[in-house]
Amino acid sequence: MSLQYVKGIGPKRAAALKTAGVDSIQKLLYYFPRDYLDRSRIIKIKDLPKFVEAGDELTVIGSVFRVELKRTRQGKRIFFLTLKDDTGYLTCVYFAGYEWFLKAFSVGEVLAVSSVPEFDRLNRVQFIHPEFDRLKVKDEEDDTDWSALLHTGSIIPKYRSTEELRAVGLDNRGFRRIIKNAVLHHIREIEEHLPAEMLSKNSLIGIHDAVAKIHFPKSYEERDAALRRLKFDELFYFQLLLAYRRRELKGELRGIQFSVKSPLARQLLQSLPFELTKAQRRVVREITDDMQSSSPMNRLLQGDVGSGKTIVALFAMLVAMENGFQSVLMAPTEVLAEQHFWTLKNFLGKLPVNIRLLIGGQRKKLREDVLADIYRGSANIVVGTHALIQERVEFANLGFIVIDEQHRFGVAQRSLMREKGKTNPDVLVMTATPIPRTLALTVYGDLDISVIDEMPKNRKPIRTAVRSRQEKEKVFTFVKQEVLRGRQAYIVYPLIEESEKIDLKSAVTEFKRLSENYFPGFRLGLLHGRLASEEKGELMTQFKARQLDILVTTTVIEVGIDVPNATIMIVENAERFGLSQLHQLRGRVGRGAEQSYCILLTDELALKKKTQLASNRAEAYREAAASKKRLTTMERTTDGFAIAEIDLELRGPGDYFGTRQSGLPEFKVADIVHDTALLSLARREAFALVHDDPHLRQPQHQHIRKYFEASFKNFLSYVRVG
Ligand code: ADP
Ligand code: MG
Repeated sequence: MSLQYVKGIGPKRAAALKTAGVDSIQKLLYYFPRDYLDRSRIIKIKDLPKFVEAGDELTVIGSVFRVELKRTRQGKRIFFLTLKDDTGYLTCVYFAGYEWFLKAFSVGEVLAVSSVPEFDRLNRVQFIHPEFDRLKVKDEEDDTDWSALLHTGSIIPKYRSTEELRAVGLDNRGFRRIIKNAVLHHIREIEEHLPAEMLSKNSLIGIHDAVAKIHFPKSYEERDAALRRLKFDELFYFQLLLAYRRRELKGELRGIQFSVKSPLARQLLQSLPFELTKAQRRVVREITDDMQSSSPMNRLLQGDVGSGKTIVALFAMLVAMENGFQSVLMAPTEVLAEQHFWTLKNFLGKLPVNIRLLIGGQRKKLREDVLADIYRGSANIVVGTHALIQERVEFANLGFIVIDEQHRFGVAQRSLMREKGKTNPDVLVMTATPIPRTLALTVYGDLDISVIDEMPKNRKPIRTAVRSRQEKEKVFTFVKQEVLRGRQAYIVYPLIEESEKIDLKSAVTEFKRLSENYFPGFRLGLLHGRLASEEKGELMTQFKARQLDILVTTTVIEVGIDVPNATIMIVENAERFGLSQLHQLRGRVGRGAEQSYCILLTDELALKKKTQLASNRAEAYREAAASKKRLTTMERTTDGFAIAEIDLELRGPGDYFGTRQSGLPEFKVADIVHDTALLSLARREAFALVHDDPHLRQPQHQHIRKYFEASFKNFLSYVRVG
């Protein structure tokens, strides 16, 4: 049955729903609440002043008493909404959108408004730009006694809405009504897809119950039971996908069986100015074991910044070379590709290895030459960016692939690169983003994992400090002292051009100021993303050769840059950076034997101002708190894993991995950071299923098969279900 025939929908609403991606009854039923009115946060108006200090978001339920538009002396118009409950009156202020608000509210209707309470100039509590939820329009027949809500047990769902949806009456209240109808009359149109046995074994409720109760739970226990089932579904099918991908990669394909005797690798080992750490040696062994095996390698190499992943990869590439195969190393940025190229060249010294660089923006003649070298097979190791996966790049005999900084590439790119090999090449993915182990199972559930969990011995822990902008003078004096002692420094800025909205010091304008006011007589270089790749390379070479004292830069410096003599990292507007970004930046220093420093400069005044001007106060407060937590975390620890856990916590997995790119599906209800127990259950069930009935032929698995194929249409190119 089509959506428009659900009671309360009709053609107009159906069309609007379609724009939001809801084009069937099934999808409407799966349009889960984004939240519930949290009864523990509903406060009587007279009690609000007590909570101003705390800065938490609170909700007030009341009826609209007055709406009015006022003009300030400057002629600005401001919208005021006065709400009344049985204990008093509350003023809500909107500085923008007054025309809309004036029409939106009418006296007598019942609203729930949520915001962080604040005092106005006369010490009266007010809400600025609160979120609102219409509970009851005036004179509507409605059997809910909203004023008694605090005492009843009902839990009220809130739904995501848009301009288009609100225009046809589908605000929270509208959604509650049509979804109620859909649940009442159409819930049976959803099919139970999991076998009864799997449900009872894992204490999961049935799908009809789950969908009904996620919308209209009578208690939080009911809501949680519903959530648990729905989360399990998401996690189970995702793990099923991974189980298939792994099966495909491991079982059925034949890879290259390398012989791991490598005189070149031995020569390299002898020429190194340092000894490999125990962890490095263990990982080299794990990799070469894989290379010897007949199934293709798919291995993730995790190691904190500076732990020495590159040299490990190089050993493997030499093994590949001596078996007559070419290798590639793909990096996420040109700067990094170029640096890898020079690092490898440097390590190799006089060893007879032909290593080439392929990046965008190279001169045509050079590029043709590199391409020919790759095509003929005379290039043994090719370092590059995603330019490597373009169609025109043809390899004679690609056998080993290293992908650096995985989270910037996707599963799709991994596959494209793999397809450049004639046989099934071995793939090593390197990441400096430390991923908590349980999570690694999820995100890279189809890969084997190696970890370098030990830093080279010659390192001193980096000292980190957060300083305010007012102390800049002092900080820069310290930088000068260190430079005069022969060290080098980075100064990083968040943006390269003045942004209109936020007053950030751009690296470009700041560079001038630094050179003229703070560091006259010192040698400064400016490196940013808009420079041509040759200019970037040139600057890096100069910096490495100590022809520059201070490199002023943007986040292009973030990944992988390696200049051991640089011992100072200054980050300007550090409050604007993400945690793993800061960790990466800090990882640019502390790479040699000298004591290194990381100083995070913050602009507290700007942050405060920004919070005050924000249209969504609650969010601005949250962001300010998160930013503080990021900085204190940096001061407290240099442990990449600890930092990753906190970063995940602060950002959520979608943001952390960049959902789109990582090949991680978007989970509607599951949270792969916190639902680890459920995740393990789902994983066990999924892997057992693929083991027992790989082609999903048994009758009780038919619904699973159908659901799986429908859920992962876009992913199915990676797997074959029978
Ligand atoms: P990662 O890529 O893991 O961040 P790199 O491979 O860039 O780290 O290595 C960081 C630096 O440490 C490089 O200068 C490298 O030459 C050096 N290095 C690697 N392994 C060791 C080791 N075992 N002992 C000392 N220095 C090492
Ligand atoms: Mg690296």
